[in-house]
This record gives sequence, structure tokens and C-alpha cells, in this order.
Amino acid sequence: MLKLLFVSTPVGPLSSGIGGGVEFTLYNLALIMSRRGHHVQVVAPEKSTLPNTSIIEIAGNLQISAQSQERDEMITLPPNSVLGNMWDYARQVQDKYDLIFNFSYDWLPFYLTPFFTGCRVGHLVSMGSVSEAMDEIIRQTVRQFPHQVTFYSQTQADTFGLKNVHCLGSAIDLPLYEYVNSPDDYLAWVGRIAPEKALEDAVAAAQITGIPLKIFGKLQDNNYWQQIQQDYSDAPFEYMGFFPTDELQKYLGKARALLMTPRWVEAFGNVMIEALACGVPVIAYRRGGPIEVVQDGKTGFLVEPDSVTGLVEAIQKINTIDRAACRRQAEQEYSLEALGDRTEQWFSLLLC
Ligand code: UDP
Repeated sequence: MLKLLFVSTPVGPLSSGIGGGVEFTLYNLALIMSRRGHHVQVVAPEKSTLPNTSIIEIAGNLQISAQSQERDEMITLPPNSVLGNMWDYARQVQDKYDLIFNFSYDWLPFYLTPFFTGCRVGHLVSMGSVSEAMDEIIRQTVRQFPHQVTFYSQTQADTFGLKNVHCLGSAIDLPLYEYVNSPDDYLAWVGRIAPEKALEDAVAAAQITGIPLKIFGKLQDNNYWQQIQQDYSDAPFEYMGFFPTDELQKYLGKARALLMTPRWVEAFGNVMIEALACGVPVIAYRRGGPIEVVQDGKTGFLVEPDSVTGLVEAIQKINTIDRAACRRQAEQEYSLEALGDRTEQWFSLLLC
């Protein structure tokens, strides 16, 4: 049994959606590690909530997410930084834990790795390369402490020029997702509404096919969203809101397909495995995480990156995909148990 301290992302409270997939991964890891008898304590910004999980809330100002800044941006912290405060807390309590698990994609925790002498720090790198300063500190940490860094996928690690890294992948709590055999007539798009996710391509595909698109997720960049509404005023799309998992999966399950249109190299793409678990095929650009998840022609389609025509062609042949095969893939590859095994293996490597 291990005593684990999970230090959350400093860009937003847990369950706000601002942190995107990393919030989801933290929750799933806390769940599976607790089920396996480990003691998990989560430290996160104020106003954080997670079902059935106690959280030590830390006050302070939030970080700006790295992907919304320029590549050559300096590393900055606001006054009374929640990132600084969370890591100060971790420093004070380190002797009470076997392992500190960092979920933030920020410079400070990586830099602090060798300063923690009472307890080792493990890092999950949750995005691909988006900033020079982060590239540098991630590469340096991997060089000095190769067992202390894990990634979602090798495709993501490639963006840092790193080979043969440890990958944790991702997983979902399968019983929460209901399999739907007969969908309604709409498409789904799920994610943070921000330029790197290129929602406009999915809206354009909805316009061409005439099949309505339901959009779910955190409205992160309002100007970007206004622009899409202006540019596609006669397309059949509807913003549904940001939902907790139980509600999200109800709508998602009835979709004919999930469209995944990231402009950037998606580190993983948790929304894909949620869709598959409901029996929903995934149509994604052949770039980043989806390459390692979607079985082209079997559980969805991988299409030419940035090609709306490619999306439309895939939508037109979506009935050739067996929805049961989608659910099966989620069961075989993305169960919490599989993630629990990989995580325990990584921890034993990290702690030896
Ligand atoms: N999500 C959610 N409710 C919504 C829409 C999205 O909880 O209404 C969650 C979704 O379950 C997923 C996360 O937001 O876990 C998005 O993660 P992903 O890895 O796809 O992308 P990221 O935001 O990390 O780039």
C-alpha cells in the first residue's frame, strides 16, 4: 500500500473543465489507486470538487495555460500563485508520502524534481510540445530522472524529440458508460472550445452533410466561439454546455459519430475513449493521440489532417462501422484495471 499525494493542475479547479483531460485522468487514477488499497490525497486549487474524493484546497491565483501562449513565452507566475502554494504544501508534507504525483504542465514542478529529497516526484506530461521553456525542462527531467516522467502517448513524446519514454495511456470507468446500439441522427463534438481544437472544421462538416452537430465542453475562448457562430450562422449546430460525465455520456452515446478535429498534436484525446465506450465511432484527423486509438475502418476513421472533405466522406460511410466493436475496444484497452496495472508498474520502477 502506497501513500500518494496527487498535485493537480494549477490552471483551474478540478471539475471546472479548464484543465481538460488531465482533470479526468487525475480522477480516474485517484479512483483506481484507492480501489486497490492505496491512500490517495489530492491537492488542488480552491473550489475543486471530485466525487467521493477528499481534496486539500489551496488558495491562490491560477496559472495561464501554456497552450494559449506563444512558444517563446517566458515562464510566469502571478502574485500569490496557486502553483507555488501547492508545491510549498507538497514540500512541507513530503515526509508523510511515498510518492508525489504531479499533474501540472508547468515549469516549476519539473524544476523542483531534484529538490524533493524526502519523497520522489513523478510527472505526467499532459500535452505535446507547446513552449520552448517547457520543452527544455521536460527534456532535462527525462534525461536526469528517466523513470520519473510518464506521457499519455509516444506520438505526444515525439513532439519533444523523446524516444522510448514511459507511457501511461488513459482509461475510463467503463460501468459509467452505457452502450447505445441505435443512435439518433446527430454528430457530437466534445472538448474545450479553443483554437487548438478546431471546432470550426466539425461545424463545416455538419453544414455540408446537413447532419446536426451537438457541441459539449468548456467554453474557454469566447472570441473564438463568437467567430465560429458568425462564420457558420446557417450551419446546424448547437452548444449544449459542459456536463458531468453521467450526463455527457447520455448525449454522447446517442450520436452517430464523434468528430475529433484537433489542429495540434493531441496528447491523447480522452473524449475518444468515452465515445467508444458508448459504442460511438470516432472520426478523427490522422495526427497525435487518435493515431494510437482509432482502428481505421473498424472503430472509426482516420482522415487527412485539416481536411473537411475527409470528415464528410467518413461521415457518409459511418454506417459501415459496427458500434459493438467500438465498445469492445474500450473494454479491451481502456479499462481502469488496465490503467491501474500500468500505474503500479510505473510506480515500482519509479520507487526502486
Ligand atoms: N468533458 C466533460 N464534460 C463536457 C465536455 C468534456 O467532462 O461536457 C471532459 C471530457 O470527459 C474529457 C475532457 O473534458 O475528459 C477533455 O479531455 P481531452 O483529453 O479530450 O482534451 P484536453 O482538454 O485535455 O485537450
